[in-house]
Amino acid sequence: MIESFYESVLAQINETAEIIGLDPGILKMIRQPERELTVAIPIERDKGGIEVFTGFRVQHSSARGPCKGGIRYHPSTNLDEVKALATLMSLKCAVSNVPYGGAKGGIQCDPSVLSAKELMHLTKRYASMILPIIGPRRDISAPDVNTNEMTMGWIMDAVSMHEGETILDIVTGKPIELGGSLGRKEATGRGVMINTVEILRRFKKNSKNVSIAVQGFGNVGSVASKLLAEQGCKIVAVSDVSGGIYNSRGLDIPKLIEYAYSENRIQLLKDYDLKKNDEFISNEKLLELDIDVLIPAALENQIHSNNADKINADLIVEGANGPITKKADKILDENKVIVVPDILANSGGVIVSYFEWVQGIQSFFWDLKEINENLKKIMLKSFNEVWDTYKKEKIRLRCAAFNISLKKIARAVELRGIFP
Ligand code: NAD
Repeated sequence: MIESFYESVLAQINETAEIIGLDPGILKMIRQPERELTVAIPIERDKGGIEVFTGFRVQHSSARGPCKGGIRYHPSTNLDEVKALATLMSLKCAVSNVPYGGAKGGIQCDPSVLSAKELMHLTKRYASMILPIIGPRRDISAPDVNTNEMTMGWIMDAVSMHEGETILDIVTGKPIELGGSLGRKEATGRGVMINTVEILRRFKKNSKNVSIAVQGFGNVGSVASKLLAEQGCKIVAVSDVSGGIYNSRGLDIPKLIEYAYSENRIQLLKDYDLKKNDEFISNEKLLELDIDVLIPAALENQIHSNNADKINADLIVEGANGPITKKADKILDENKVIVVPDILANSGGVIVSYFEWVQGIQSFFWDLKEINENLKKIMLKSFNEVWDTYKKEKIRLRCAAFNISLKKIARAVELRGIFP
């Protein structure tokens, strides 16, 4: 059986806590989210009748600042998953030195069978029900799997209607027209590209012509594929929930993006009109390809103890949160596969979310050049810190990143002192 996502995260925290000699009391605090809220969200269906959905908001830690984390809509979303994601958010913000704690939210639903009107009602009711615990200085949401700018605009509106004033900084990842930031939509994929180019450089590999497969062709996977292709990398495979497409000579990524995103609804790759030398492959096969870099950018627990031995990539850059279970991480390490961990590799999103929050507070917006330059500067700084710890301590990159984050969270707890 595949390990629980949350157990995997806790096991990783334990391993690092032992290495750094973390205070056992602080470890106890970090192993438990500060606050967990479950809500039952009723909506009226278009066809008539009421449906009730379960939603969650978990605040893992506010030690370093307001809680921060995305909201996901997925049929299998559950409290265990949201707790794991909230914990990773605290660690992610700490590793990139963004002054936030960690949170995450989700609604157990299949958005593909809901109309836009139903999704809006679901989102606004969810926002109203978590309102007692969120706020621009308490807990700020952002998009995640199956949510986007529009979802964030709806949340901003619901909260603003309750409060009687426009509260832009309750969410990040908003539409530009509603105080969103340039570059936020592409920020996570851009960060994945920056980390991939950097790790290749550290292993003295030029980006030109390295072969890359990307699992998940959503926001993170499609942007990372496009930007890496622009760096000269050969994207040989991409996939979504319906399956994948492979071409040993490299896929035409702009064409695939145009196909997947040209209609109002996302088009599945299984219905793609294959170009010359393209072929369909399964998601399982994509993970096993003999390539230089694998980028899992879909969901958690994709590489587990049953398939970790079949991974043939030299490097893995985690676009998704938690795509490798703890047991698989060990197997990959034994097989000398280098993994750039999620809390570093996909931190571009939260970094530009932070820029968006700062811009909103100042009511002064930066241009795209400034945003992308600042993003790169922060990402390379955190990459260097993780790399130096990895070299110095001779531990896995994930352990090095956890090492830095746990120390920062622990220090914040110590400096604040336990209330009361
Ligand atoms: P998204 O909804 O835009 O895309 C998800 C993609 O994964 C879709 O192409 C979907 O079809 C595919 N997918 C779903 N199940 C799959 C499966 N079993 N096998 C293969 N593909 C599958 O979501 P996203 O925002 O791109 O997020 C992807 C991952 O990145 C998640 O783990 C998320 O938590 C993480 N992440 C996202 C952001 C962000 O800013 N959006 C930031 C940090 C981390």
